Order: sequence, then C-alpha cells, then structure tokens
Amino acid sequence: LEIRNDMNTLLKEVEQFTSSKKIEIDNLKIQEEYRRDFLGNVAHELKTPLFTVQGYLETLLDGAMHDKSVREKYLERAQNGVDRLIYIVNDLDLITKIESDVVNLNKTNFDIVELFKEVFELLELNADKKGIILLFDRKHHKPIYVKADKDKIRQVLINLVENSIKYGNEKGSTEVSIEPLIKNKLIVKITDNGLGIDKKNLPRVFERFYRVDKSGARSQGGSGLGLAIVKHIIEAHQERIYVNSELKKGSEFSFTLELGQELLD
Ligand code: ADP
Repeated sequence: LEIRNDMNTLLKEVEQFTSSKKIEIDNLKIQEEYRRDFLGNVAHELKTPLFTVQGYLETLLDGAMHDKSVREKYLERAQNGVDRLIYIVNDLDLITKIESDVVNLNKTNFDIVELFKEVFELLELNADKKGIILLFDRKHHKPIYVKADKDKIRQVLINLVENSIKYGNEKGSTEVSIEPLIKNKLIVKITDNGLGIDKKNLPRVFERFYRVDKSGARSQGGSGLGLAIVKHIIEAHQERIYVNSELKKGSEFSFTLELGQELLD
C-alpha cells in the first residue's frame, strides 16, 4: 500500500511538472509570435517612406535634377520621407525604452496644469494650421499637483493632444479637464470634436501599429505607436486609461493619476 501511495504522489508530481513546462512553452510561443509580428510591422512601416525616398532620388539621378523646379520639389519630397523615417524610428526607440523601463519611474510632485500649458505651446503651431483651439476647462487657473514621472506624463500629454489635433476637424477644439475622482486620485480628460472612432475599432486603438484608417492615418504622419506608448506609461504608473468615442462626433481619452501634495515654498 505504501509503495502504491508513493507511486501516486510521484505520478502527480510528474504530471504537475509537465503541465507547468507546457505553460512555459506556450508562453514562449506567444512571445515568439509577438516578436515576429512586431518585426514584420516595423519592416512594413519603414518600407513605404524608404521606397518614396529611393524613388525620388532615382528620378533625380535619371535626369530630373537638371530642371531646377522639379529638383526642388523632389528633394523636398525625399526630405519629407526622411523626416517620416526619423519620426518612426524615434517612436520605436521610445517604445522599446519604455517597455524595458517599467520599474524605473522617477516620481515627483509637479503641477499638471503647468505641464499642459507647456505641451499646448509646443503644439500650438500644429493646432493653428487647422484652426483648432486648445482649451483648458475654465476652472483650472490654479495649480493641480500630481505625483508621477513628469517626463513620461509629458509624453502622454503630447501624444494625446497631438492626436486630438491630427484627427480633429478644421476649426474644431481640444479641451482638457482635470477632475477629482476618488480619495487620492484624479482623472484627466482630453476631448476633441473630430473624426471619432467607430465601436468596432475602439478596443484596438491601443495596440501597436493599429490604425483605424490606414492610409489616412499614415498621411497624418503618425507611426501607429503613439497610443501604445501612452497606455504603457499609464499602466506602469498602476493607473488606468479609457477611451470614449463616437464616429463623426469626437473622442475623449481619459486617464487617472495620483494626487500630489501642494509644494510649500
Ligand atoms: P498614429 O500614429 O496612427 O496616430 P496612434 O497609436 O496615436 O497612432 O493612434 C492609433 C489610431 O487611433 C490612429 O491611427 C487613429 O486611427 C486613431 N485615433 C487616435 N486618436 C484619435 C482621436 N483623437 N480621434 C480619432 N481617432 C484617433
């Protein structure tokens, strides 16, 4: 009887061991698939602007460079292609850093109203070009302190405000509001009255390289990584991000943050 019991325990252990190894293998397979998808997407994103640059340079060398006005036009287009490559490579760099840097949050107390003002100034020119106004909820003339990694939250605000301009309507607006949520939390909302996103695409907008309107969004100059970066930063802070949107009406991106303390001078 004793031997049989021992055998049973041994069998159970072997079973447990094999099933844990099976889970490990499944996880490795998922990681491998993800890595392959990621590389495929990167190659695909880089190809289009690279071929554009190559096309213009080739045409120039084939003789187009002898005509001054054509030369200027093609060089400018080639340069736009290079700018786009730089934009994509910068975002790739950023997402790789952010994904491997989750634990390295450098949290400080800072005024988020002030940070929004800085971001508005940075993007004012883009907004002006489309006649979009960047607004603050009128209540926010006083500082609001939060406890978070300021550089990373700056990136979040830039990406969200930039999107609200890119996908906003001509002469529309982007409005920011910051409200208390529960105890020591507040919620930051960035609302636009632009293109909006339909229900079926909404759950996917935070995925890397996902775009609702592929060619439309690409012509806006994005990399398809902006919202993936935003989500990663917010979740690294153990906070949450939400999106509400209605096609042709507009979108509202919101996220939670930890309330900071008033700084004493
Ligand atoms: P992209 O570089 O293409 O802007 P993002 O990750 O920032 O990439 O956004 C993913 C997609 O989500 C965009 O291509 C666009 O289709 C959609 N999107 C993001 N923000 C908005 C917004 N404010 N209004 C409408 N659509 C948006």
